[in-house]
Amino acid sequence: MNIHEYQAKDLLAKHGLPVPAGIPALSVEEAVAAAKSLPGPLWVVKAQIHAGGRGKGTFKELSHGAKGGVRLAKSIEEVETNARDMLGNTLVTIQTGDAGKQVNRLYITDGVDIGKEYYLSMVVDRATGRVAMIASTEGGMSIEDVAHETPEKITTIVIDPAQGFMPHHGRSLAFGLKLSGDLNKQAQKLGKQLYDAFMALDCSMIEINPLAESDGKLMVLDAKMSFDSNALYRHKDIEALRDETEEDPAEVEASEYDLAYIKLDGNIGCMVNGAGLAMATMDIIKLNGAFPANFLDVGGGASREKVTAAFKIILKDPAVEGILVNIFGGIMKCDVIADGIVAAAKDVNLSVPLVVRLEGTNVEQGKAILNNSGLPIVSADDLGDAARKIVAEVKKAA
Ligand code: ADP
Ligand code: MG
Repeated sequence: MNIHEYQAKDLLAKHGLPVPAGIPALSVEEAVAAAKSLPGPLWVVKAQIHAGGRGKGTFKELSHGAKGGVRLAKSIEEVETNARDMLGNTLVTIQTGDAGKQVNRLYITDGVDIGKEYYLSMVVDRATGRVAMIASTEGGMSIEDVAHETPEKITTIVIDPAQGFMPHHGRSLAFGLKLSGDLNKQAQKLGKQLYDAFMALDCSMIEINPLAESDGKLMVLDAKMSFDSNALYRHKDIEALRDETEEDPAEVEASEYDLAYIKLDGNIGCMVNGAGLAMATMDIIKLNGAFPANFLDVGGGASREKVTAAFKIILKDPAVEGILVNIFGGIMKCDVIADGIVAAAKDVNLSVPLVVRLEGTNVEQGKAILNNSGLPIVSADDLGDAARKIVAEVKKAA
């Protein structure tokens, strides 16, 4: 789960990190009121969307859209004009894709006189099974280019969870950022605070870009944070920060039915039980020259309601030209699953080819139910057979 910049900064400030004052705003009036309660004389109006690259983004509706989603304002009037420009309009950045994202909230924050911009982030590093802190002297708006062109300017510090963040990690961080004197000390302290926040909040990623030096002080000027969704149950306050308007509507609906659904770019909808089987199904569709439209794991106890919901979610995607159901009846029985599939197919008025591969307990009864349903369901014997059949059906229908 991702959150907005202003929410991430609130959490980081609670863990002691230095964050400039700021107030979120949902309307132009709120933006003006927020600016008035900050000291000035420089403010920054920042679009709050779950995507980076806002500074270099453009607004679809504005002819002068090149001004971007992060703007400095030297007066309350400028805050007002910029807020009016952004709210309700669509911001397109390198991370949003061409469709862009509608800006529904702003963050009005103190303008900082930046000396230098640094980069600092933390992620879970799957290769080492530990968390890693990543830092660079080249912060700001082009960290992707730094990673490609001058990777030697990036320092990675891997931290052993049993040991925690040790003073030497802090020194490596400050050294990597080429800081001396008091700034060096500040970086060591900030690294420890960031690590503690990451662990305490069960984060999967924190990115501070830029971490800025201003008047001899390090400041968090931008923050992105994502959380391990498996740990959200123990952070009700963080769960409450979820902004569903930022998420794919189909993925939100799927999560209500406890289905693991991720939208992909292809045209073959997949309904599978078990994440491993779902991955294998996607692979074998690709092996047969087509592309999956989604990842969908209905889980172990796929009830009729769940199967129906899954069908509806798959079919809402206009790119779907055929569906492949691949279910292993282990805990569930194949005849129960077949009943669910037939009911769901009738319920949603299925209009695209459907190939079903069932395996496991009561598989013969399950296949009989599908064959006797009167629906144009193509039954398959194994995974390879199923993939070949759905690819052929979609080609035939095209
Ligand atoms: P994004 O990464 O989405 O483009 P940022 O919050 O990093 O958005 O803002 C882009 C740039 O705007 C920063 O690299 C920084 O130069 C400038 N900026 C951001 N916040 C402030 C601030 N509070 N004061 C001064 N400049 C800022
Ligand atoms: Mg940034």
